[in-house]
Amino acid sequence: MAKPKVAFYWCASCGGCEEAIIDLNEDILKVADLVNIVFWPCAMDFKYADVRKMKKDEIDVTFINGAIRTDEQEEMAKLLREKSKIIVSYGACSQLGGIPGLANFWDRETIFNSSYGKNCPSIDNPKGITPQTVSKVPEGELTLPAFHNTVKTTDQVIDVDYYLPGCSPAPYLTMKAINTILSGDLPSKGTVLSPNKALCETCSLNETKPEKLSIEKINRISLVEADPEKCFLAQGIICMGPVTRSGCSEEGDGRCIKANMPCRGCYGPTSEVKDVGAKMTSALASIIGLEGEENMSEEKVKKLMSQVVDPAGTFYRFSMPKSLLMRKMKDKH
Ligand code: SF4
Ligand code: SF4
Repeated sequence: MAKPKVAFYWCASCGGCEEAIIDLNEDILKVADLVNIVFWPCAMDFKYADVRKMKKDEIDVTFINGAIRTDEQEEMAKLLREKSKIIVSYGACSQLGGIPGLANFWDRETIFNSSYGKNCPSIDNPKGITPQTVSKVPEGELTLPAFHNTVKTTDQVIDVDYYLPGCSPAPYLTMKAINTILSGDLPSKGTVLSPNKALCETCSLNETKPEKLSIEKINRISLVEADPEKCFLAQGIICMGPVTRSGCSEEGDGRCIKANMPCRGCYGPTSEVKDVGAKMTSALASIIGLEGEENMSEEKVKKLMSQVVDPAGTFYRFSMPKSLLMRKMKDKH
């Protein structure tokens, strides 16, 4: 019997999701044994033309990582959708926009100015030249993909069947997803292939998580020595565990928690959470509230919350394009 055909593609991301596939270690040999990899430009010499020649639905499953921010990525996502029976949105950037999605707090023009304009201290570009989609050179025309104003998730561009969350997805979850899909016993469309439980529920520090918090200030992890035996929130350190899906480590504890770092939210929301930032703000506001034994005044709660450095970047670190806001709108004036 012919082996199922599998493809991997990389859009706007750091490359960590490609590493996550390599991190399957010896299991990658099992994958290579079970499937026929027909497209993986990061690791093997395939051309886009190879995909264009394929028939509709010829690929059994394609894993797409990274957000969509250029014409090329959009075109490839659409092409792979046409050629694949199943599309898995792989990793935080593909599922939620991820770190590239933070660009939605600015626009294309501001990004180009800060990368190529006089505000960029590391370049000398007196004519303010920016990348062009078409450039004429003596040898002919050079082309670059157009850079979009808004970063999008994969499912904002094409229909997606399953999601594998994380920055990057844990190898054990990747292997489990591959085995589940290959077994033919498919979960319902749209399933996020990681437990639908908040990280706090599986965190070993949960017993020290306070119902109500009495803190003097919000602390930044880089400026304090965190107690590894105590919930981060109890130490006044923002931890996104209350609104983040578990599954990043097989044992249930968060990968970052085990390394004495608070959760930043890369596994995205559980199914009950519609907007990560709004939910986290409300979760924090509901537990911060004690001053000694007394309820803290609303003004003091506001003052405490105002100590969160870069609240938008903290609460929407991985999910801005998928949030209710999606992007910052340009000022009208
Ligand atoms: S807030 Fe963070 S440290 Fe505290 S229980 Fe939840 S995941 Fe663990
Ligand atoms: S602890 Fe949070 S930020 Fe760290 S890997 Fe897990 S979900 Fe991601």
